[in-house]
Parts: sequence; structure tokens; C-alpha cells
Amino acid sequence: MHNDSRELSLQHLRKSCGLHGGARQQNRGEGLLAHAQGVTCRTGPDQLRNMSLTVLGIESSCDDTAAAVVRLTAAPEILSSVVEGQVALHAPFGGVVPELAARAHAERVDLCVEQALEQAGVTLRDLDAIAVTAGPGLIGGVLSGVMCAKGLAAATGLPLIGVNHLAGHALTPRLTDQVSFPYLMLLVSGGHCQFLAVAGPESFHRLGGSIDDAPGEAFDKVAKVLALPQPGGPSVQAEAQRGDPRRFSLPRPLLDRPGCDMSFSGLKTAVLRARDGVIAAQGGLYQQDRADLCAGFQRAVADVLVEKTRRALAETGFTLLAVAGGVAANTEIRAGLQTLCAHLDVRFLAPPLRLCTDNAAMIAWAGIERLQQGHRDGFDLQARPRWPLDSTAAPLLGSGKKGAKA
Ligand code: ADP
Ligand code: MG
Repeated sequence: MHNDSRELSLQHLRKSCGLHGGARQQNRGEGLLAHAQGVTCRTGPDQLRNMSLTVLGIESSCDDTAAAVVRLTAAPEILSSVVEGQVALHAPFGGVVPELAARAHAERVDLCVEQALEQAGVTLRDLDAIAVTAGPGLIGGVLSGVMCAKGLAAATGLPLIGVNHLAGHALTPRLTDQVSFPYLMLLVSGGHCQFLAVAGPESFHRLGGSIDDAPGEAFDKVAKVLALPQPGGPSVQAEAQRGDPRRFSLPRPLLDRPGCDMSFSGLKTAVLRARDGVIAAQGGLYQQDRADLCAGFQRAVADVLVEKTRRALAETGFTLLAVAGGVAANTEIRAGLQTLCAHLDVRFLAPPLRLCTDNAAMIAWAGIERLQQGHRDGFDLQARPRWPLDSTAAPLLGSGKKGAKA
């Protein structure tokens, strides 16, 4: 490549990756540019069925910057999966700060891509497509990923594939365990909570979801009001182990109503009231009080999720339940769901935690599934704060740490 056109491409990459010059950043752009030289797209719609596919995935919709390379031959293989979390960045604020998240994604996304390629032992030349989360999520972060992917696609000529973040979670059981359609997916994280009937790579039906907070968000808020460390899920779970779940009478919201919708905001407020009641009665909050509040809250969340899952399974008649999202790591919730499934003779599948929480391997995989359907996006691909997987379902109203719910 001539120096002039090389500099032009470099500028293009820098711009696309949100870089603004500086020696370190120029070197980073050069690294990707070196990868990009001489790449040609080798995929046509008819060639895909029987060929091996290698796809780069990029994820930046919330508080994890991630890049991964997944290859499909006879079975899918994760060649690399790099995740840079932002927990420490947001911890002092008790929740994700969108502006900080966006800046961190813009600074790190191209580095994550370079690491993912290096760890996979591939260059851009070995790829068949670039898949990127195009929503839903915090718009600043989503934009960083989409711009980076567009820059790489423009520089290499590789197909660009926009992936719905929720589809990434919903299709993960096919990446990890090659399950066939249909199955029920319970997605429970800090930003999302919904039951999805997954019938095909692009066929999702939402059976219900939280009308306000997602459970992970409620765990985080409960931890905050009890002065426990963030993220709240693991610290509330640890406290709950020493607690009595029956001491406080906490609500099981929406269990009295039919259907699969859920609500966790009132439960969080009930914990706050119970805490204030204890403080008013005895002048302070002791360790046992904290443990009992955590145990009561966790039991209430588990009861709601298990009962609503029972209804979703009854409604669909599916024989496989898969879970995803950080809250799926909770041992009490997981045990409740496992017991339910054993009782109903339903297979229970929980992918490894690193693939349950936000990651880019699931985006690369969803990209492969879309590519196989003949799907491509143009450079007009939009970053979308809202992007419901099931456009026929009524919109969810709440707004959580990922902004407006999808
Ligand atoms: P998001 O990116 O939408 O916040 P993740 O899938 O990254 O979601 O999961 C993070 C969420 O999972 C946090 O809200 C965290 O508190 C919650 N979490 C993690 N571990 C546990 C646990 N053991 N019990 C309950 N919640 C948990
Ligand atoms: Mg996350």
C-alpha cells in the first residue's frame, strides 16, 4: 500500500475506533491496519452451508468491553474471548455511569480486538465476517463498538453483521452445547430480565419480563442500602448464607397475577423499609439483621423466578430451559430452577458463567448464525439504544442501569 493511502486508511481506522491520535494510539491503529492489508471477502451466500466460518465479535453495550473470535467447523469453537470489565470504574457511583462507560469503551475496544486476534492466532485475513452488538444498550458504548466494526469492515471488505445483544445471550446454548430449537431462555442480568421462546436464529417470542428493575439491578441496590460491596449479587449471596430467610416478611410481586411478567422494584423498596424498621426499633443495623434481610430478599427473588419459569414452561411445553445473565450465577436461584426442571423432567442448561455474563463470543456466534441465514448489514447499520428481540411483544416500561429496557 502506498504511504498516502496507508495514512488515509489509518486515519479511517483511528476515526472508526474512536481514536484521536497520540503515539500509543497510532501504534494501536497500525496493528489493526497491518491485519487489514490484503483481505478479501471469501463468503457468498451459497458457499456458507458447508464451509468453516471464522467470525470476530465485538461487544460494548453496557459495562464490559469485549472481543472474541469464534470458528464453526463441525462444531463451534471459541478461539479467544477477551472481556475487560468496568466494575472498578463504576463502583464508587453504585451503578454504571453511561458517560464513563462510553469513554472507557472508546479507549479499549480496538485493544480488545487486537488481543482477541492475537490470542486466537488469527489475522483479519482469516476472518469471514465482523459481528458487533448494535443494541440494545447504553448508546455511547454501542456506538464505540459499531464504529470500530464498521472501520474494520471498510478496511478489509469483510461482511458487517449487526447483532442484537439479547440474541447473543439467547443463542449461547447453541454455542456451548449445540442444542436444537426450540427452547426456553431465562435471561436474568443487571440490565435485562425476560423469558424468551427461542424457535430459530432470528425467531424469538417474549413470554414476559420485568416491568421495572432487572433482578441484578435489585441485588445491586439492596447491597447499596445495606452498605455491602458492589456488584451486589455476590455480596448479598454471601451474606444470605448466614441469614434466616423467614425473619422478614417480604412480598413476591406479581405472583398473584397470571402470566410471566415480573417486578422487582417494590421488593427492593420493601427491603429498604424493613431495614429502616430495624434501625428505628434497635438504633442500628447488626450483622445478623443484614444477613436476614439478604436471605429474605434472595429467597423472594428465587421464589418469583421459579414460579414464573414454571408458568413459562407450561405455556410453551418446551423440554429445555437455558439460563443466561449474571444473576444465573446465584446458587439459590440456580438450585430452585434445577429442582423445578428435575420435577418437570425438563433439561436444565446453564452455560459457564463467563459465557452467561456479557462477552463477545456470544456476539460472534450470533453473527455466524445470522451469516448462515444470508444476513449482511450495510454501512448504514445503526447503533440502537432500544431494540426489542420480539417486535410483536408489548414494550417493557422500566428503565434500568442499561437505560430504557429493550
Ligand atoms: P449486565 O451487564 O446486564 O449488568 P451481567 O450479565 O454482566 O449483567 O451480570 C451482572 C449482574 O449480575 C450484576 O447486577 C450482579 O449483581 C449480578 N450477579 C452476579 N453474581 C450474582 C449472584 N451470585 N447472585 C445474584 N446476582 C448476581
Ligand atoms: Mg455486565
